[in-house]
Amino acid sequence: MATNKELADLIFPDIKETVKDLEKRFPPRKLKPGAEVTRFAPSPTGFLHTGSLFTALIAYKFARQTDGIYFFRLEDTDQKREIKGTGLDLVNQLANFDIISSEGYFGDYEKGEYGPYTQSKRADIYKIVIKELIKKGRAYPCFCTKEDLEQLRLVQEANKVIPGYYGEYAKCRHYSVDEAIELIKSGKPYVIRFKSKGNHLNHIRVHDEIRGDMDLSQNDQDIVILKSDGLPTYHFAHLVDDHFMGTTLVTRGEEWISSLPIHIELFESMGFKPPKYAHLPVIMVNDKETGNKRKLSKRKDKEAAVSFFLEEGYPKLGIIEYLYTIANSNFEAWLMENPNTSLDEFKLDFNKFSLDGALFDLPKLAFISKEVLSHLNKDEFTAQCLAWAKQYSPETTKFIENDIDRFKKIINIEREQEKPRKDYEKFSDVLPKIRFFDKDAYDQALNQPLPYNEFISKEVIKALLIEYRDHLNLDCDEQTWFNDMKALGKKHGFADDRKVYKKDPQSYNGWYADCIAIIRVTICASTNAPKLYDVLQILGKEEIIRRVNLALSKIQ
Ligand code: GLU
Repeated sequence: MATNKELADLIFPDIKETVKDLEKRFPPRKLKPGAEVTRFAPSPTGFLHTGSLFTALIAYKFARQTDGIYFFRLEDTDQKREIKGTGLDLVNQLANFDIISSEGYFGDYEKGEYGPYTQSKRADIYKIVIKELIKKGRAYPCFCTKEDLEQLRLVQEANKVIPGYYGEYAKCRHYSVDEAIELIKSGKPYVIRFKSKGNHLNHIRVHDEIRGDMDLSQNDQDIVILKSDGLPTYHFAHLVDDHFMGTTLVTRGEEWISSLPIHIELFESMGFKPPKYAHLPVIMVNDKETGNKRKLSKRKDKEAAVSFFLEEGYPKLGIIEYLYTIANSNFEAWLMENPNTSLDEFKLDFNKFSLDGALFDLPKLAFISKEVLSHLNKDEFTAQCLAWAKQYSPETTKFIENDIDRFKKIINIEREQEKPRKDYEKFSDVLPKIRFFDKDAYDQALNQPLPYNEFISKEVIKALLIEYRDHLNLDCDEQTWFNDMKALGKKHGFADDRKVYKKDPQSYNGWYADCIAIIRVTICASTNAPKLYDVLQILGKEEIIRRVNLALSKIQ
């Protein structure tokens, strides 16, 4: 009777190294107590999903706040789903958010002593471990074809039993070693399956850093661990990689909770200590049609792709702060109390994670982003806006580069003060709001009627504008300018007090804010513009007079 060792040698004749050798090759990391080794382990199957950015951020943060190590591993064992080049894209997109690993996969190169960090380059490492499992009788070759498995599924469906390859249904686990050897020698193709000792009627208690202890059914599935292409499945690769890379804390999506019993059994079968697990809540949205909560979907939601936020020019810090609000319920309060403190000072805490799917809330992100953008000084704002524009908006680039000092003056209106104005949510908002400063843009806007208050007669507007133009005075401080405007309004039938106007509206054309609005519309071609006094100072006398004349010529 042949032994498991003979079977293992037949399957892997070239694998000479053992698990012991691997333990020597990848010795335990020297870390200070409490330091966590975390990782982000995406598959190169497309763009960076917002949920993946969240996962990466959490992994990065836990390593950072414990003085541990965060590394990037590329999980490319499903080569059919791989989209070439996306691995490097993921690294680069994360780097945008300063999520930069200290070791791992970096696209064209790798760094670190625990590599390779690309799963497709680790085939031999997996085989060493699988060889050991076969020797121990905890893995076996399975010769079932697709048709066999389909047949099995039908039988299980008809018998209303749990589907899968396990127990009595796991045909190939019942072959003797001799039979298996014979089938291999006959050239029959096979995969390698794990031989489970579990029973799904038994329960196991597993700890999750976020959810606490969970009672789950024991694994009894003989899952495939090595596919016919010589690469492992996720479950097995994760066991080997996280063990030999010294991961102490696995942060991954909650869709993996149901696989946890498999992972726990795999770790046990090898005598490896499992890492701590934190299964992160999935990011949800309110479906516009049904009103129900559902997963953020690549197909339906623009917010599912991180590139959407980058293209729109949301500030990166705003996005990170927003993701922290999703992660920890106390983050917002912390931020309010510590507005000028580095986010490094905030300590993420698994106990403060919400368990329900976190709801992605664009208005909330907008609120946070406005806050972040309003607190940049003019130089920081300009640098970030220009960097964004160079990548995504040639028009904005042109506007800025045309006269960068003027741009700084424009975006500095009501900035760099104690309570800065929150004008911009994202950099793509900038140009539409300030384009009117350009002569050509203003002239073009005049192709449409100017949006004056329709309750004020054209005659009143004209008379007001003529007087404004003829007595234009910019060499004054804001208060004087404001008083001048009030006086001008009063002369043309605008009350200098709101209450006075409200009491007797019939006797007035409006109040002084209506008078200022007429000037604003004339100069900015919009009812909504940055503070008028500053706008006028930037435009200068000549351009203001030109605009008033143009506007007058259009008012019929
Ligand atoms: N490649 C897996 C995924 O993208 C990784 C899960 C994990 O972090 O272990 O979901």
